[in-house]
Amino acid sequence: METTRRTFRVKRKDIHYIRTTLESYDGMAVVGTRDPYRALVEVCFAPGCETQVMNLIRDLKRTEGLSIKEESRKGPPVDREEAGRPRFAVLTMGCQMNVYDSDYASRCLIRAGYAPASDPEDAKVLVVNTCSVREKAEHKAFSTLGRMAALKRRDPTRVLVFAGCVAQQEGEALLKRFPEVDIVLGTRRIPHIAELVNRVREKRERVASVELESAGLLRALSGDHYFSGRVQGSITIMQGCNNFCSYCIVPYVRGREQSRSPVQVVAEAEDLLEQGVREIMLLGQNVNSYFWDEGPGGPVDFSALLRLLDDLPGLARLRFTTSHPKDLSDALIRCFHELGHLCGHIHLPFQAGSDRILKRMNRRYTREHYLDRIRLLREARPDVAVTADVMVGFPGETRKDFEETLDLVRTVRFDSLYSFKYSDRKGTAAAAFDEKVDEQEKRARLMELQALQHSITLEKNQALEGREVEVLVEGASKKGEQLTGRTECNKVVNFVCNSCKIGDIVKVRISKGYAHSLQAVDLTDSEGAHMDHAHYG
Ligand code: SAM
Ligand code: SF4
Repeated sequence: METTRRTFRVKRKDIHYIRTTLESYDGMAVVGTRDPYRALVEVCFAPGCETQVMNLIRDLKRTEGLSIKEESRKGPPVDREEAGRPRFAVLTMGCQMNVYDSDYASRCLIRAGYAPASDPEDAKVLVVNTCSVREKAEHKAFSTLGRMAALKRRDPTRVLVFAGCVAQQEGEALLKRFPEVDIVLGTRRIPHIAELVNRVREKRERVASVELESAGLLRALSGDHYFSGRVQGSITIMQGCNNFCSYCIVPYVRGREQSRSPVQVVAEAEDLLEQGVREIMLLGQNVNSYFWDEGPGGPVDFSALLRLLDDLPGLARLRFTTSHPKDLSDALIRCFHELGHLCGHIHLPFQAGSDRILKRMNRRYTREHYLDRIRLLREARPDVAVTADVMVGFPGETRKDFEETLDLVRTVRFDSLYSFKYSDRKGTAAAAFDEKVDEQEKRARLMELQALQHSITLEKNQALEGREVEVLVEGASKKGEQLTGRTECNKVVNFVCNSCKIGDIVKVRISKGYAHSLQAVDLTDSEGAHMDHAHYG
């Protein structure tokens, strides 16, 4: 697709309207959000359509009084609206819950009068949001902190915030160890970020805020149009974890499990949908044990919450992660059969294929229970995609145990797997276990497991060749010449389409299955309208 692009500054509240209006004219333009905070949108014109679309923009300005100003084509956009506001940058490591926390922190800072910087060099407030689930992640946290500390030394008026799981784990000691750090911010203290940053700026007082107390932590933030222009949005529905798997640091650094009220979750979902988000991902360390029994309306468990959300107008797709096999109830499995918007994909970590190792891991289910859950899921939804986490080299894992893991992978035939070498985490039960597996052996097992999964993923993706699937269009593909999106089963699909718009669900035919993506041919041009265009917006 030979296209031209121009960038416009609009009002945040108008992004969705401008996008749907411009994109509803037969594929003449695709509108992407270049910077949602600064309400910069990029209009990508189909070949030969630039003049027509520019006329439409002029009409929107004249007849509807919208503010749509083109950014200078020379040099970086000039920021008049946010001139003078101190800028912040957030660097995020780790899981999707950390991404949610970083978005939450950004929104708190924006509400307090800060503006996002596109480069940490331009920021007065630097936030490093860290992960400590494995040793490698912790190293990355400290090397990123090292780079940000160097920026702080160049300009000591900057505020440096070290946040997330590593901050929670190391606490106040970090202030001594890193004189550049102003704020050590624990995992449950994210909502306090703006007041703490202001305090440091006013009084230059360094602080460690790492309490893990539970009540009223996350508020439902809404009305700031933060997600305008995005196709997907996430909601953390519960914090913390009670499971204490023997290898895992999460319960220590994220505290005990606490569910958010269904009212808050629904309000956040409605806000996302109002901003044009089409797919919602619910997040938690073990969403299957979500439970709320305060207030009117009776107790709400996870399957009841899914049913509440599935009915929301404008929702195209609903997903969740992560599930725990011991808490995956029959009621939840039924949702895969009954709910119209729940995607046919489940991420169900199994961690190990041997009952002996599962017991040492304190996972509280057996291999047989896991396989039974998969069987029931596939009965409820025959095309359900199953992905999982698995670990190799847990203390005491013998070759025979490992072969049971390989056997489980062959039996289930996962769509894909996240596989890790076990890594000792200080303070967890497993760190004190003996019979540690040699590092080289762990590496060899990991490679063997990954080679097996690679061949299964490839075979499964190749088996899709010739099949018609629905794809939610997310934007341009990595190389930029095609569009990209995901199937309900969460598989990445690339395809060419001149009339498809970001946020559409379109029908495509898979032409080639690769290990990490699918190539497809768009069927909408030949079959008429996009599948759900009438629902869009
Ligand atoms: N709550 C989720 C669950 O129960 O599966 C995931 C939590 S954890 C952040 C993500 C994955 O990291 C786990 O599923 C596990 O495979 C892996 N993991 C956790 N602790 C680990 C450790 N000490 N060493 C290696 N991998 C680990
Ligand atoms: Fe960690 Fe287990 Fe909790 Fe998952 S369920 S976060 S692996 S303790």
